[in-house]
Amino acid sequence: MKHVVIIGNGVSGITAARHIRKQSGYRISVISSETMHFYSRTALMYIYMGHMKYEHTKPYEDSFWKKNKIDLIYDHVIKVDTTSRSLHLKSGASVSYDVLIIATGSTSNKFDWPGQNLKGVQGLYGYSDLRLMEESTKGAKHAVVVGGGLIGIEMAEMLLSKNIGVTFLVREPEFWSIILPRQEASMISRHIRSHHVQLKLETELKSIQSDKDGNAISVTTNKNEIIHCDFVGLTVGVSPNIRFLKDSGIATGTGVLVDEYLQTNIADVYAIGDCAERTYDLRGRKKIEQVWYTGRMMGEVVAQSVCGHKTRYEPGPWFNSAKFFDIEYQTYGNVPSELNANEEDFYWGHASGLKAIHAVWDKNTKEFLGINAFGIRLRHELFDTWLRQKKDIGFVIENLREANFDPELFVRHETEIVEKFIQQYPKSKMRIAS
Ligand SMILES: Cc1cc2nc3c(=O)[nH]c(=O)nc-3n(C[C@H](O)[C@H](O)[C@H](O)COP(=O)(O)OP(=O)(O)OC[C@H]3O[C@@H](n4cnc5c(N)ncnc54)[C@H](O)[C@@H]3O)c2cc1C
Repeated sequence: MKHVVIIGNGVSGITAARHIRKQSGYRISVISSETMHFYSRTALMYIYMGHMKYEHTKPYEDSFWKKNKIDLIYDHVIKVDTTSRSLHLKSGASVSYDVLIIATGSTSNKFDWPGQNLKGVQGLYGYSDLRLMEESTKGAKHAVVVGGGLIGIEMAEMLLSKNIGVTFLVREPEFWSIILPRQEASMISRHIRSHHVQLKLETELKSIQSDKDGNAISVTTNKNEIIHCDFVGLTVGVSPNIRFLKDSGIATGTGVLVDEYLQTNIADVYAIGDCAERTYDLRGRKKIEQVWYTGRMMGEVVAQSVCGHKTRYEPGPWFNSAKFFDIEYQTYGNVPSELNANEEDFYWGHASGLKAIHAVWDKNTKEFLGINAFGIRLRHELFDTWLRQKKDIGFVIENLREANFDPELFVRHETEIVEKFIQQYPKSKMRIAS
């Protein structure tokens, strides 16, 4: 019987395992070294904040795996031998495979800062990081979080929940302004400050200092400011976790290089999720996408190919969601931080500073290209359809009400949004939705 071995029990590896099981009687083994069972990485912050226990973050009962004949091996792969089709594990055991799926996720970046390995300095990626952070922040009074992205803002929220003061160092002129347009980036920056975070923009970490026992006690910024602290969070992005593939013959760039079928340069070896780097272009999508939904979609697609229905990975329009303290964020299609020459945009912000939408379209064809929504929930399926059908911007604005799925009794803003749009683009010939 064909033996499919998956390295990594995150959303990518587990989705692949479940879908292969649905379609085949193959022997399936999942090897992973972080936790015995799949858990939701995106819920790590809620464990720290006391909203959930680790047990609650496991999407499947522990009995699920045996029942579905998916063997779990709690070990670390140190070497892949593609000639003999075998894996060498840290425990000394080896496992042979017929098909190999690499789904090893990411690791937190570090940039050789002096003091980055001191006690009380860490990133946040896995379960052991969570436990370490719980330990290191006991009794802490002030923390410095370095790096203005999604994990950085989560870490700031986590620390504040334990009444630990936070200074947040962000290299860019506004929070996450390499991704968000100026209006949204400054709205979120204001929101961060309203939560009493000391947000220091255009500021980078230079070094971390310690006491005589090796505990972090302060950081120095590139502006030579010294900030006293007892914890330093390093959240400056992640990179594919692929070091163990060195010398395996599997081609890598920043990630494991894969084609349209998520196949590597070696027969019967695939890579999916955070660790995969596409070698081909897809409109509006990056070559490496380190988000939950991408891993899930890749897991489904690779299962098809492994089970004999060769399927191309065609994820369609980009989408993502996150939460910045109290503001929910959704994005569909592409809203670049800086407009491209052929693009035009429309921004509406609510007086509260907690809600906004930002739509982008092609100036010449009027084709709708993407939307950011803050504090207003928009239906994913509808935007996915509109983007695939290349609807024009007039249609999208006119039908915003249909796309909204805010709970009943939430104040609705579509009429105001449409009126502002018509004021700004009087030639758009739209009806105002009643
Ligand atoms: C704190 C945090 C919050 C996040 N929030 C969001 C969010 O809100 N929305 C969103 O879309 N994305 C979010 N992400 C990103 C998202 O969680 C990842 O994109 C996703 O989990 C990647 O899944 P994966 O299966 O590819 O890899 P992973 O989940 O990283 O799983 C890979 C597993 O393989 C194991 N492994 C690696 N190498 C080996 C080896 N050699 N041997 C054995 N095992 C190995 C790893 O330990 C890991 O358990 C967040 C990430 C973090 C860290």
